[in-house]
Amino acid sequence: MNILVINCGSSSVKSEIIDTITGERLLEMNIQRVNESPEIQIDGGELISCKKTGHKAALDKAFPLLIEKSRDLNISAVGHRVAHGGKDFDEPIEINDEIENIIDNLSSLAPLHNPINLLGIRKAKEYFKEIPHLAVFDTAFHSTLPRRAKTYAISNELASKYDIQRYGFHGTSHEYVAKEAAKFFHTDIQEQRIITCHLGNGCSIAAIEYGRSVETSMGMTPLEGLAMGTRSGDIDPGILTFLMKKEGWSPEELDQILNKKSGLLGISGSSNDMRDIIQRAGNGDDNARLAIQVFAHRIRKYIGAYAAVMGGVDMIVFTGGIGENSPMIRHRVCQRLDFLGAIINDDKNHDLKLSKTQPNAEFSWNHSKVKLLACKTDEQLSIARQSAKLVEKTKVNSIPPIPVAISARHIHLCKETFEELFGKGATLTEKKSLSQPGQFAANETVKVIGPKNSFETVRILGPLRSKNQLEISRTDEFFLGIDAPIRESGKTGNSPGCILEGPKGKVQIRDGVICAWRHIHMTPQDAEIFGVKDRDVVDVKINSKERSLTFGNVLIRVSPKYKLEMHIDTDEGNAAEISRGATGALVDTDGEARLTKKKLR
Ligand code: ADP
Repeated sequence: MNILVINCGSSSVKSEIIDTITGERLLEMNIQRVNESPEIQIDGGELISCKKTGHKAALDKAFPLLIEKSRDLNISAVGHRVAHGGKDFDEPIEINDEIENIIDNLSSLAPLHNPINLLGIRKAKEYFKEIPHLAVFDTAFHSTLPRRAKTYAISNELASKYDIQRYGFHGTSHEYVAKEAAKFFHTDIQEQRIITCHLGNGCSIAAIEYGRSVETSMGMTPLEGLAMGTRSGDIDPGILTFLMKKEGWSPEELDQILNKKSGLLGISGSSNDMRDIIQRAGNGDDNARLAIQVFAHRIRKYIGAYAAVMGGVDMIVFTGGIGENSPMIRHRVCQRLDFLGAIINDDKNHDLKLSKTQPNAEFSWNHSKVKLLACKTDEQLSIARQSAKLVEKTKVNSIPPIPVAISARHIHLCKETFEELFGKGATLTEKKSLSQPGQFAANETVKVIGPKNSFETVRILGPLRSKNQLEISRTDEFFLGIDAPIRESGKTGNSPGCILEGPKGKVQIRDGVICAWRHIHMTPQDAEIFGVKDRDVVDVKINSKERSLTFGNVLIRVSPKYKLEMHIDTDEGNAAEISRGATGALVDTDGEARLTKKKLR
């Protein structure tokens, strides 16, 4: 599935069309300097400038270009990165007016992010009208935080009045790298205690216990926790009131100081960019040195705390621009963690270079109980994959369940045979109509005689047909002593015959005894919904109350005359312990719901 991922940030917009199966980037469009003089770049090509400033103008210029370039790419959905999902969202969701309003209302919790994210969503919806738009929230992965970790020690009343709690951010990245780490070490994430350090311009750290986020350093806003590029991270709240009194700052000014003028920039007094700071520190700049020390110290402090929270740790993962690229920061953080069982291999740490082809690299010794890993995060791919999953799920949910009916042994007769058994001029009389339009179970029955045994009363199904056809199960075959082939209805050529006995006579039919190929009747409209054609062969999972079972090799039969229903015989019904109201769904070979399967030649 091809997904357009849009990350509409405060000063830049990143968008990519990603093939979610291969992870391949099919098209990339970035807009830089949105608030000054926007520059649009597609697939690394020349910069296209936009005369007007601001997100609206830039997106109005950029989206038509993107549409033009992506004509052949068949985009299935647009996945939007949304910073704050508050208490409402613990997984991605399709965006409608109501969801837009909720995202809007959450702006007070993330004033720098949510309004811009929403602007991106609304603009994208103007240009990509026909496809679903989905929101993937930075907070969602941390919705599993236990209450003790979520709760600030303030009055209950205040907390619930304003939904003040720890939400956490960078969830997409923490989840992605934790899964990558488990994959890298060939282990199950459900069995690991992982500490993930996302160190970019914004920095956060998370404790992921057996696949669930149980602690994270960012809180109600992305300001809490580690020291970051320009954000202070943890600070004694007393300092805020102290400064407000001393400097007479307004909330906006305080916000600006803590978000834009603190962190690495504040301490170093020169830069928020770790590369600059490392260089300055190397040249003897003491403030730059202090910035690095504070930065690394706080990460170590959190690692110790999170190991305590989880009662131990199995892996520590470094990601984000700094975590992926700076051996020096990784070294400062991981040295002397031996007491935890984490032993850094300095050579490996120094030499490792992450790339597209090598997105993960271990830098602990083999005997280190705790594995250390540098991992290239890929939030865009993760958003694309989460979006694709939601699209698939929505599609599957909108597909009707297939009612399942058990066909007991029965017989269809031609007029000639029927008259031989019931007398000249006899007619079939209807006992009960069947689900397929025009079909009925007749009052009349016949005796079926095989080489070994016989059945006294086999129901005739009407109306009469052009050919005789006796449909029995495998168990019936063994009982009668007849070796019947599995056939679709109507294909009786070269099948065995049997003896039939009616009130007026006995007939030896030459052929017509078959074991019916399990099949699904559907209309052309149904076929379109399921994404199948007449004579496709599919796998169907039967959701019976007793014992779910997947049947392979199920034949699709399409006709405007049919009604949606799957027919299986008594043996198959018994195997699945089917009760009334059982339904089936088309599935993939691994049991995941899917649409179509291999075609019949
Ligand atoms: P964002 O949070 O905006 O996605 P990134 O994850 O790209 O940011 O991280 C940006 C940070 O990574 C900057 O501080 C940058 O200096 C730092 N960085 C990138 N490469 C290196 C490197 N080789 N050594 C140290 N820091 C680096």
